[in-house]
This record gives sequence, structure tokens and C-alpha cells, in this order.
Amino acid sequence: MIRDPRYDILFEPLKIGPVTTKNRFYQVPHCTGMGYLRPNTLAHMRRIKAEGGWGVICTEYNSIHPTSDDLPHVSASLWDDSDIRAHSLMTDMVHAHGALAGAELWYSGARSANLMSRLPSMDVASLPNLAGMPFQTRAMDKTDIANLRRWHRKAALRARDAGFDVVYVYATHGYLLANFLDARMNTRSDEYGGCLENRVRLVRELIEETKDAVGDRCAVAVRFKADDTIGEDGQPIHGERRDMFSMLADLPDLWDINIADYTLEMGVSRFTKEGALEPYMFWVKSVTSKPVVTVGRFTSPDTMVSQIKRGITDLIGAARPSIADPFIPKKIEEGRFEDIRECIGCNICYSGDSTGTPIRCTQNPTMGEEWRKGWHPERAKPARSGALVLVVGAGPAGLEAARTLGLRGYSVMLAEATRALGGRVAREATLPGMSEYIRVRDYREQQLLKLPSVEVFRESRMTARDVFDTGAAHVAIATGATWRRDVFDGKTYVDITSSGATVLTPDDIMDGRLPQGPTVVFDGDNYYMAGVIAEAVVRSGQPVTYVTEDDSVSAWAEKTSERWRVRTYLMELGVEIVTAHSLTGFDGQTATLECAYSGREKTLDVSAAVLVTQRKPNDDLYQSILATVDGDQTRLPFTLTRIGDVDAPAIIAAAVYAGHRYAEELEEIVDIDEPLKHDRPDVGAVPSFARPAEPARDYFATLVAYYEEEISGEAWYDALADLFDGERRDKMRLLAEVERHTAAIIRPLIDKHGLAVQGLAALIAEGRTAAARWAADWDGLVAYMRQGFPAYVTAFSALEAMAPPSDRAILRQLTEHERVAIDFLEREAGGDPDSIAPLVTFLAAAADTAKAA
Ligand code: ADP
Ligand code: SF4
Repeated sequence: MIRDPRYDILFEPLKIGPVTTKNRFYQVPHCTGMGYLRPNTLAHMRRIKAEGGWGVICTEYNSIHPTSDDLPHVSASLWDDSDIRAHSLMTDMVHAHGALAGAELWYSGARSANLMSRLPSMDVASLPNLAGMPFQTRAMDKTDIANLRRWHRKAALRARDAGFDVVYVYATHGYLLANFLDARMNTRSDEYGGCLENRVRLVRELIEETKDAVGDRCAVAVRFKADDTIGEDGQPIHGERRDMFSMLADLPDLWDINIADYTLEMGVSRFTKEGALEPYMFWVKSVTSKPVVTVGRFTSPDTMVSQIKRGITDLIGAARPSIADPFIPKKIEEGRFEDIRECIGCNICYSGDSTGTPIRCTQNPTMGEEWRKGWHPERAKPARSGALVLVVGAGPAGLEAARTLGLRGYSVMLAEATRALGGRVAREATLPGMSEYIRVRDYREQQLLKLPSVEVFRESRMTARDVFDTGAAHVAIATGATWRRDVFDGKTYVDITSSGATVLTPDDIMDGRLPQGPTVVFDGDNYYMAGVIAEAVVRSGQPVTYVTEDDSVSAWAEKTSERWRVRTYLMELGVEIVTAHSLTGFDGQTATLECAYSGREKTLDVSAAVLVTQRKPNDDLYQSILATVDGDQTRLPFTLTRIGDVDAPAIIAAAVYAGHRYAEELEEIVDIDEPLKHDRPDVGAVPSFARPAEPARDYFATLVAYYEEEISGEAWYDALADLFDGERRDKMRLLAEVERHTAAIIRPLIDKHGLAVQGLAALIAEGRTAAARWAADWDGLVAYMRQGFPAYVTAFSALEAMAPPSDRAILRQLTEHERVAIDFLEREAGGDPDSIAPLVTFLAAAADTAKAA
């Protein structure tokens, strides 16, 4: 489809210092919970965004030195040369799609306690740890500042060597440089403190030094906030910002602008809508001639165009929209607006960083699974058969399962009891502030319209008999869960209410049953629901007391950076708050609360209680199907699987993920003993052949693993060839050729069985990474190979033994190539001048076979 000219402006290239972005879609730095701990997962996640059309793709915060260490929150790092290799995995893939890669150099200061590196944190003054830990910073002296400048420069050079095109000076978000700029925090009396000129000095020096180090090849960006301190939403307090900004205005190549209040900049949709930074941004572009980027959870192409046309920004910055839909740029370019998977503003993506685990997304279940599971946000592997699949329940789990199954080409019946699709999201979106959650349904409902093999049956409450009658080969039960009317006392669920008392649950409120009179809302869930319910009740005119056993309101919402706003908001609404108390009884007039610490009781005079506790799986249908065969699944004429909340009630993201996983894995071979590829830091190159994949339980998975090893093996030998000269180099090249021919010999089996193989780039990167440790150690390398290779002969022979007879002739050559390599190694170790003879013979035979074929 030809692009709608209205959106042309989004696709105009823009020069940023020495580099040029192909369009205006700019993925700003965002944390991922992967960083230096999970380099493959990270690189492939960013690769998908490049494939989706983003012009610039940045890393997360990238520590320049171990005195800036944020674990258990995982940052990236540029501490040494091994980081260069890890980052270049990402930059190569990003460049392959024509995008630029950016690195955000980061030095924490008082926000990190360096729990992993155990080195003292340093900041502008002796400050308390700003994340609430019992550590203080060392006040930096001149030597520390000189060290910091050197570390920053070295990190910039490493970023350049890793292939980055944009390098950041990060002067906001409460980290070190922001504190130097801050008039109240910077109490220094030397040339780095006092007047504005002095406080700006360090940032200026770092910009200049970064430009000097890498400015010929990389653009230098500065991340900077537009306002001074946190004020009312939408009413910036600019303070000195404009003066500060003017002093540096044309020094960097790009300004990446955000604001003082992170909970607004990164606000959840309950409190913050698209384009929330605009009131803060209006003056920025008038002060600098350099390009500007800012964010605003932009998902509407029209808003994006308007932002640029009205001179708010030059580039459309995005973190969350690029997470929810890595393909937004492509979809806008192709006029496929209805395919945009809009971010719902839930901040579950941020919980990855908060919990030190890889990023995930409610809307995009493939986020973070690009490498580990090979999932793609826009594609799924083809169906294995023409089987009919019945999905019961059209909540997030059922909808996502049906969508992905349809994408794979399966025939799908999606049966939903009610008229409306969406399950819990359709219901929750009716609660105050939650309207954007409906995007989880809307995107999927829209996609189902495009999938001819999916039929949707509304108002179709299924019984066990109905399920059998469909004749489906596979049945997924996605019937959700219901809020409970009891509380969990730490060991079991107990009923704490007297008969006749008005006791409601969130389901009642969503059904329109609101309490009358003073109400206690008890939060045993600790996420958003109790706060939202308290708001709904108080807005209906009833006084509300919110009670939680935890010390804070909506405790888990800290992980999504909304806890603080929830509490402030409830206080403003007039909700009474009682923390550290459990609800132990309610007789219709009096609620009894027990202090979590002292056990002391107190009472509240209320006429209703809303229990926001746990949920009970709606598994009647699942159980009644199983009952027909006395629980013996093998006797069913179909496979039966529970997915989503009926399986294990959890957040919406988990239900979407469960639906996606079911669909991706249906009729696929999944090794439940080792279900995940395990990413881990580079341990300095133990080549993959050190331990060949175990002669496995399953033929196909092993075949793929060995095929992939031939590909990474070729890259490994090629990289080794680069490490040696003369004859040794030639020998490595010859071994690379043997690997290449062997991969070509096995390839027809991969194709014949329709097996999925990892991306070439990853396999090549794996092989190349493994080579580095052998630099100049020829004897060590030969010894290593002599020790490791015989295990491969055993493994390959085992594969032959488990293969179908028609595959065996080909696999014999796989085993043979290893024998040939061992023959070469033994000759080499014995000083044979013609050690390569077996390799040459093998290659000649392979060439003959290829010619004959
Ligand atoms: P999840 O979050 O796991 O997707 P939801 O509770 O959001 O679960 O959705 C469950 C959906 O299943 C609801 O829309 C509900 O109406 C539907 N449902 C429940 N039982 C049946 C049934 N027996 N037949 C068809 N649909 C059902
Ligand atoms: Fe948006 Fe939620 Fe996905 Fe984050 S997790 S990108 S906020 S939909």
C-alpha cells in the first residue's frame, strides 16, 4: 500500500551530527531487565524493533564503571572490552535493518548503592542513598571527577567500537549529572558548585569530551529535563532550566528531553494520557538549533504528525509504544493503522526492571521472547496440520490464543458465553481510569476479522457435551476466574463475614452493584484493583476506608511505578487509609481489623465490605470434561489444556502470554525438561562443541541443534582463522569449509521435516564470540579440540541411530565429517606436514556428491 502523504513527515530523514536517521521514529533508552546479564535476549529484542522500522534504537542505561551498579535492577554496561562484543551483537542486527543504534552512558551516583560491585557510590556531595538504602555517597573530590571524565570517555570509545551511532551524556532522572546541575543538591564550593556556570561545568565537559572522543563518527545526545522540580501535572516549574539549556543549546547533536516527575513521564494510563509532556516542551525547540526528541506514549499517527508540525519535537520518541508494537513505523508506512497494537499504559514492562527479570508486555506477548523462544510480534510458524481447535472463553487468554492460532493457519472456533468479547478487560475497562485496557481486546478483535480460519461464536456458553460435539482435535479452556468472597489468612481461605452482611467483590462492582453507606475496601491483592474499586465506590458518594495488610497502599504497584500516585490520589479523593491491618471479621455493621504487628484489634463502623482478595479459577467446564474420562486425559478424543486465569489467576499480561504460548506450541515439539533457551553472560568463550547436545529424547530437536552447530562452527573457525597467520589460518579456513559443506549436506533434512532454525546472525555471533579466547594459542586450541571432538562422534552416531532409515545416509556424513576433523587433529599433533589431507579428501567427495545431486 502507498503511504498516506499526511504521514510523510514521519518518514523524512534527519541529520543528527555526523549520522542520519532514515525516519522520525526514535526508540529512546528504556530499561529491560536484561542489560549485561542477558545479551542475546536483549540484542534480539532490539533487532525486532529495527525490523519494525524504528529509525534509531537505543540501549537502556549503560553503566560506564563498576562504581555505578544498580543490581538487582539490571543495567547494560561498558566496563571493558567484553561489553563491546555483547553490544555489537545488537548494533550489527540493528544496522542490518538500516537503523541507527544509540548507547546511553550512565553514571548513577546516589541512586545506586553498588550492591554487586561493593564499591562506594560517588556523588556531588555526601548524600543519602536516594533509593532508600542505608548507604551514603562519597562526596567526589577533584580526583574522582577526573576519574569519572576518563571513564566516560573510555565508555564512549567502547560504544563507538561496538558500532553505536549515537552516544549519550545522561544528565537527568536524578542521576549524578542531574545532581551536579541541581542548585539545592550541589553544595560544593569549588569550580563545580555554586553559580550556574559552575554547576553546568561537568555536563559541559562531558559533552565536549565525548564529542572529541567519538564525535567524528557518532552523534552526541544529551538527556535533559525540561522543568526544575515536580509541580502539578501539566504545570511546569521551569526554574533555571531554560538558562541552563541556553548555555549548552548547540553543544550536543541531539537533545532528548524529559521531565522532573518520572511518574508523569512514565505515567500509567489511569492517571496520564498520550502527549502528557507537551506543556513542558513548548520552549525547547526555540532555544536550540539541534534536533529534539521527546516521549508521550504516542500511538496515534496523527498526534505524532501534529507534534512535529507544531514544533514540539523533531523525532517521535517512544519506549512503551515500541514495546507494545515494535512494528508501528512499518504499519503507519503501509497504512495499516488498524493493525497497530496500542500500549495500554499499564507499565508491566517496567516491572521487569523493578524485579530484575526480563521485560514483558501486556499487549505484546512476544516481547522478551524473540531470542529465547524465537517468537515474532507479527508472524508465527505455520500450522503443523489442518486440525480444528476449540478455544472456550474470549478473555485476554482466549483471544490471544485464537488470534495466534489463526495466524498459524489453524481452523479455530472461539466460543464465548457473553455477547461482548474481552472477558476481564471488557469489564475492568469500565472502572474509573481504566478505559485504555480495552485495547487488549480491541486489537485482537480487529485482527480476528482478518483471519478467515477463525470463527467467533458469541453468547455460546459451552458445556462438556457441546465441547465433544464440536469434534475439535484440540481444546483450550480459557474461562477465566472469579473474585473470591473470603480472605487468605496466610494458610487457607477463611470466611470472615456473618450471613446477611453486604459483602461485595470487584465482580459485583463491575456488574454495577455498588455498596450503600460507609464501606471498607480490603486489599489482599496489592495491585491496582483495590485502589480502583475504592475510587469507584467513593465516586458513587459513599465514604470509603481502604485497608491493607501491607505497609503501603497498592504495594505491588511499586513495580509499575504507580504506587505513589495511587496513594496520593486516594487521599485527594477523601479515602481513609489504614495500612498494616488485616480484616478479620464483618457482621454487617462493624468491621474488625487486626494490626499486622501487635495483633491489637480495632473496629470500623461500616455497612458494606468489598473484598479484593484472590480469584477462584472458573474450571467447572474443564473438570466436567475430565470427569467424563475419570481424569484420564489420554482417553479424550482431543487434547485438553487450561490457559490463562482458569489455569493460574494472575495479571492480564500473564493471560495474554499463556494464550500466545498455547498457540505457538500447539503440535510443536516442546521439551518440557528443558523448555527455555537460557541466556547468560559471556563467560569468556567456551565453544559450544565443548559439550555436544545430549543424544536427545527427540530426533527433530537434536537434528536442529546439530545443524545449528555446523553453522556456528563455520563462524567459529572463520573467526579463528582471523586470529592466526599463514598455514594455520589456511587450516582454520579449511575446517570452516568442512563445516559449511556439512551444514549444506544436512539442510535437506531440515527442510524435509519443516524444522525451524535460529536466525543466522545469532548462530554466527555465537560462533564468533566463542573464538576470541584462542588468540595466539594454537597448541591450546588443538589440544582443546582433540579433547572435545570425540564426544561429537558419539553424539552424531546416536542421532543416526534414532533417525528414520531414510535420513541415515545423510547423517552418516555428519558423523564422518567429525571423524575427518579428528584425523586432521591427530596428524597435526603428531607433526604431519600433510595433516590437512583428510579434510581435502572430504571436501572433494562432498563436491562430487553435490555435483551428482
Ligand atoms: P483470561 O484472563 O484467562 O483470558 P477472562 O476471565 O478474562 O480470562 O475471560 C474468560 C472468558 O470466558 C469470559 O469472557 C467468560 O464469559 C468466558 N467463559 C467462561 N465460561 C465459559 C463457557 N463455559 N463457555 C464460553 N465462555 C465462557
Ligand atoms: Fe504499554 Fe503495558 Fe506493554 Fe508497557 S506493558 S508497553 S505499558 S502495554
